[in-house]
Amino acid sequence: MSQYLGAKCKLCRRAGAKLFLKGERCLSSKCAIVKRNYPPGQHGGERQGRLSEYGLQLRTKQKLKQMYGLREAQFLNTFQKAERLRGNTAAHLMRLLEQRLDTIVLRGGFASSRAQARQLVQHGHFLVNDKKVNIPSYQTKVGDTITVSQTKTNKTFWKDRSARSTSEVRELEIPQWLSSDLAQGVMKILTEPETQQLADNMNISLIVEFYSK
Ligand code: SF4
Repeated sequence: MSQYLGAKCKLCRRAGAKLFLKGERCLSSKCAIVKRNYPPGQHGGERQGRLSEYGLQLRTKQKLKQMYGLREAQFLNTFQKAERLRGNTAAHLMRLLEQRLDTIVLRGGFASSRAQARQLVQHGHFLVNDKKVNIPSYQTKVGDTITVSQTKTNKTFWKDRSARSTSEVRELEIPQWLSSDLAQGVMKILTEPETQQLADNMNISLIVEFYSK
């Protein structure tokens, strides 16, 4: 499936939840979920029927996939990796998604949106343990240090961004498993992501059931 290029807010309204696809706007009162929390379309405001079990599984899978900005094949690939690991597949899936380099950049407050995080990674703005990595899906691990490349720190983008504190850049809390110093341009992964907390409002086991059919 090709990449979705339509209105991002429609995806949130369809999912009935904030997917945080538009950076700082998502935290403001301009967010479409705050203003119109019902599905898009002519009949969106009307009473919706109950979803079937399959519909619920599909909806949950779509929601998580869109939240992380992945295409179907990329998401399936990540799921299959999680499935091959011993233990709870749902927890492994969330951990693999959270440990992607683009997610780390976003969680650390170095980008306002996932799309921006991905672009920064692709343009070689980050080093992982002093080595340049320009692959957004790169799997980081506990103990990894991610730094802004010295060759990029002179760019206006970083000058502007490091002049603001992390809390100003992104009001979402930086997770406890990640340390982030925006002024110094450094992040460190302290422990494994707390996946239970992330999945609280989503039943990830529905995705496991979806792919098990
Ligand atoms: Fe979703 Fe962000 Fe649009 Fe709100 S502003 S509907 S969270 S993309």
